[in-house]
Amino acid sequence: MKPLQPKSIIEPFRIRSVEPIRMTTFAQRRQALAAAGWNPFQLRAEDVLIDLLTDSGTGAMSSRQWAAMIASDESYAGAASFYRFEAAVRDITGFKHVIPTHQGRAAEHILFSCIAKPGDVIPSNAHFDTTRAHVENRGARALDLPCAEARDITARHPFKGNIDLEALRRVLAEASPGTVPAVMMTVTNNACGGQPVSMANLRAASEIARAHRVPFIIDACRFAENAWFVKTREPGYGDRAPIDIAREMFALADACTMSAKKDGMANIGGFLALNDDALAARCRNLEILTEGFPTYGGMAGYDLEAVALGLYEALDEEYLRYRIRSIEYLGEKLVAAGIPIVQPTGGHAVYLNASALLSHLPAAHYPGWALNNALYLVGGVRGVEIGSVMFGRQPDGSERLAETDLVRLAFPRRVYTQSHVDYLAEVIVAVAEQKRELTGYRIVEQAPVLRHFTARLEPLAPLGG
Ligand SMILES: *Cc1c(COP(=O)(O)O)cnc(C)c1O
Repeated sequence: MKPLQPKSIIEPFRIRSVEPIRMTTFAQRRQALAAAGWNPFQLRAEDVLIDLLTDSGTGAMSSRQWAAMIASDESYAGAASFYRFEAAVRDITGFKHVIPTHQGRAAEHILFSCIAKPGDVIPSNAHFDTTRAHVENRGARALDLPCAEARDITARHPFKGNIDLEALRRVLAEASPGTVPAVMMTVTNNACGGQPVSMANLRAASEIARAHRVPFIIDACRFAENAWFVKTREPGYGDRAPIDIAREMFALADACTMSAKKDGMANIGGFLALNDDALAARCRNLEILTEGFPTYGGMAGYDLEAVALGLYEALDEEYLRYRIRSIEYLGEKLVAAGIPIVQPTGGHAVYLNASALLSHLPAAHYPGWALNNALYLVGGVRGVEIGSVMFGRQPDGSERLAETDLVRLAFPRRVYTQSHVDYLAEVIVAVAEQKRELTGYRIVEQAPVLRHFTARLEPLAPLGG
């Protein structure tokens, strides 16, 4: 007898607490979206059937996490929950000092307030937008150095999240002394489609930074997903456990920032972890000012408990196989149906290439926005446009259109099953079949910054159906 090699994705959990989701009619969805100014950010979540707006803080916790939360210690100082959290972070990252924060951007705020000054430059494979904002808030420059393969959205390179090592060498060699306070590496690379970074690239970047005595810092939000890609795509790592791979990644760095809303498997939380004693002392002083006492740092005792377990659960092989396979599976279905996507699929999301799919719409008619709205109207699915509405407005008020409009479908952790993914593929294919009927949009009201959250839009022609 041979054991079955299943084609089905076996969710490695069974469900014993359910949250109903609601099917709506086309007419209800059209009314809801019109009332929301044709902006999915303004929809009520209960009007969405499958919500892929973000994978941040939207995951399901395990029964073990909930049990630990009930048994938390809510003492202001020195709570047992903090020590369990600290032990977990130290065990996985190896860093000496663990500074809890209410989410990832708070760790960034503390770190960059302590290390960056006007005129500095901080190179990265690609800064996430909150990281960039905190670097720029200090008057420093956030410099993205993605590898060449990252620019071709259909190139099937295994590690498109890598940094361009030659460019990093050049930047460090040419910088005036004392103007590069850190090199950052985002794993996986969120701004480049959730693409992974190889261990070889991390090691080489770390060596370059160390040769220049510049601290090497990992933005670790999706460290477990990155470990899985190293295991499955990088020669020599196939037999290693994800936790060992994660430890090897962190050993290359001097510090990390973390949003526990991602691979912390929690709904809120984060941390900054580092080795430098003097820097840690400065960070803790600032933490007391902005987050709270250093043994809770903006988190409740039960949040600390959830993260202490969640970090290990994110590294579970069966979970990682299910998670990454779900996303790859959707990608395969879409490619088979001829739908253009960013390839290969990354760790937390599938990115639809709206500009290619809706090539009859000019960029100025916001094809990404049109596609995302069609997913909602046709099937109750909510993604997010990553394109001209999100990035097009310049500080001087002018409009610069994105080269490519994408729609990101980000997967909450442990929330959706294979049948949800099958349904999702059906919705996307149904939208593609009617693409000629999709019209563009125009903006009728917008805020001067981050307009995509609140803008009101209007379809350029009445919507049929
Ligand atoms: C989400 C995220 C952050 C910020 O974390 P928050 O918890 O949302 O504040 C930073 N970096 C990356 C790569 C992220 O994905």
